[in-house]
Amino acid sequence: MQWAEWKAWIQQRMVPLIQRGRLQAGKIATQAWNFVLAHKKQSAVAVGAILVLTSASAYAEYYYESNIIPIYHVIVNGKEIGVVSSPDVIHNWAAAKLEAEKAKNGLDFKFTDYITFQEERVYKGKYDNAAAIAALSDIASIKVNAVKIVVNGEVIGYAPDQKTAEGVMNRLKEKFSGLPVTGKVQAVAASTAAPVSKASMLKQVRFKEDVKLESDTVPAAQVLTADKLSELLSKGTLKQVIHTVQEGDCITCIAQKYGITSQDIYANNPGITENTVLQLGQQINVTAIRPLVTVQVVEEASQEETIDYAVQTRNNAQLPQGDTKVVQEGREGKKLVRYQIIKENGQVVERKVLDQKVLVAPVSKIIERGTKVIPSRGTGRLSWPARGYISSGFGMRWGRLHAGIDIAGSGSIRAADNGRVILAGWHGDYGNCVIIDHGNGLQTLYGHMRSISVHEGQVVAKGKVLGVMGSTGDSTGVHLHFEVRKGGRPMNPLRFLN
Ligand SMILES: [Zn+2]
Repeated sequence: MQWAEWKAWIQQRMVPLIQRGRLQAGKIATQAWNFVLAHKKQSAVAVGAILVLTSASAYAEYYYESNIIPIYHVIVNGKEIGVVSSPDVIHNWAAAKLEAEKAKNGLDFKFTDYITFQEERVYKGKYDNAAAIAALSDIASIKVNAVKIVVNGEVIGYAPDQKTAEGVMNRLKEKFSGLPVTGKVQAVAASTAAPVSKASMLKQVRFKEDVKLESDTVPAAQVLTADKLSELLSKGTLKQVIHTVQEGDCITCIAQKYGITSQDIYANNPGITENTVLQLGQQINVTAIRPLVTVQVVEEASQEETIDYAVQTRNNAQLPQGDTKVVQEGREGKKLVRYQIIKENGQVVERKVLDQKVLVAPVSKIIERGTKVIPSRGTGRLSWPARGYISSGFGMRWGRLHAGIDIAGSGSIRAADNGRVILAGWHGDYGNCVIIDHGNGLQTLYGHMRSISVHEGQVVAKGKVLGVMGSTGDSTGVHLHFEVRKGGRPMNPLRFLN
């Protein structure tokens, strides 16, 4: 290659590059070029110079390329508001802004949803991050029409419009009443066919709190979607608190630590139940659920119930004390009871009887209780134990003591005084015999009876039939052998009888 050709090549290749770039490399190339001109006769040097120039050319290319940097046009709602060096400039600003807004009003919103970026690659592209952020700040505070949800005078959040706000509130009512609510309460018609054993009717669905929807204008970023508003109203927060399970944790311990209930944990974490074995490092949502509104559902229900029967007790003077007798069995009745049931967020808080109708009246059980008192202590004055005549008196007879009197006759033998039977049965020569202890030191004995109608231990009243006169034991004819003993010693019965 001739020098002239080299010169032309260099001029063609390098000069435009140098002129275009005004580069540092250009300066190097120029110096190299001058060096070549000064030593054009020395071809070896020329070759070296060309090598230097070629390197300089490559460096210039590199330098140029490395100065072509991307810039980003920031587009908000279709309009360019500035140019930034990176989308991160906006993202970081939005994140900081979001944190600040959340801290202020507890609302969560995604500001960057409105922003798009357009990338452009230009040589030494110009951008101005600060200006773009300033423009964005202006737009962020632009207000839009919205509907605010006010609960007990406190602004809970903003819906984009009335329809969305009403939809959110109705959805909450539906959740707890199980019925589609279209502004008005719809009643489930209860069957009127009688008898109705169970029927419930939804009477009213309302918010316990004073809930108002009001028009307002707010920064666009504060407007929440229907889903976010529902979540906020039913949970009380959009922030999640997460607990990482540590050694020794249990569900109730964790709940206690965060001031929530185990139920809150179950509600937040589908899949966790009271039987769940917690794993170390497991993430648990421990956000406190405190609904901002209470859905009150008023229901009416009719129910057939049994009526217990009453038990009446009355005295019967003919019946010995301690004895009872059922004179009428009890029978349960039936009634139809109408209740008003108030539920709050699904939990029954009140159950009130509105009225009740007796369908079948109950029948009382009637018990008679004996009041007849039989004293076991005698009066000391004895009555005649049998009818008849004295066939043998008290005293010595055939050389021995006849310890009682014999009454010849027939029929019943009666107790001579109140007392307790201490013997009733066969008693040697006395045959069938009854002995009564009158509790006052006196005992009476009745011997030779044909039959006995009392038993040992029985308390008998004066005049009570003890049995029938007979001739059992050492006896020669039907009679009653009657003895009276005082302190165990036989006495003449005639002294006591009257
Ligand atoms: Zn006798």
